Amino acid sequence: MRTDQFADALSLVRDAGRVEIFTGAGMSAESGLDTFRDARTGLWTKVDPVAFASVDSWARDPEPMWAWYLWRASVCRGASPNAGHRAIAEWADLPGVSVGVTTQNIDDLHERGGARDVVHLHGSLFDYRCTVCSRPWRGAVDYPTEPVARQAPPACPRCDSIIRPGVVWFGENLPQDEWDRAEARMTAADLVVIIGTSGVVQPAAGLPALAKQFGAKLLEISPEETELSRIADVSWRSTAARGLPELVLGLTL
Ligand SMILES: [Zn+2]
Repeated sequence: MRTDQFADALSLVRDAGRVEIFTGAGMSAESGLDTFRDARTGLWTKVDPVAFASVDSWARDPEPMWAWYLWRASVCRGASPNAGHRAIAEWADLPGVSVGVTTQNIDDLHERGGARDVVHLHGSLFDYRCTVCSRPWRGAVDYPTEPVARQAPPACPRCDSIIRPGVVWFGENLPQDEWDRAEARMTAADLVVIIGTSGVVQPAAGLPALAKQFGAKLLEISPEETELSRIADVSWRSTAARGLPELVLGLTL
């Protein structure tokens, strides 16, 4: 159904040449990936996902965490991009617009949905690096088909320390180059489309406000009101998989 919110959203989208899509967990939820729920099935029912996102836990006992992150990567490989991911790629293919993606998600659904230019603020389930010397590690990973309780991480070929998941844990800084790219794109955007994020995880949640300071319009697509709704020019009650295809279709009509 076409609502006034849809008309307002489409109007913003029509006027925008440089677009940055800013996504969070809700974007992946419609592909069946729900970090916390998936993380707590089967073997992992007693896992505290917060404890497993901590560098202290890693220092204490890395093997359960390594097993858990490989399992999450394996679950992610089994999930498919949804209509929202694909709509972003179609939008980027339209003439006269540039469409980038800045995501807080650590899955690769944007890339597999066809997005070519993705900033991963919180790292990726498919990146690995040395715990001590930080050198990226690109060895072969044997993704599990069944969860296992413990697995020994591989050793760094340079310093022999253990390899860790390339994701951002609590208390860690965001990767500087990704943050710099996100800031540059937010400050240059005509329009930032906020999808599937509650806007509470800092510093990422501050990016839409930064974009607005630099003159961007903000369009939020969210089934519920969020912390970012009040600064959005238009806050549309829809979801990634429903709303984005409608908008992109609207652009082509
Ligand atoms: Zn090393």
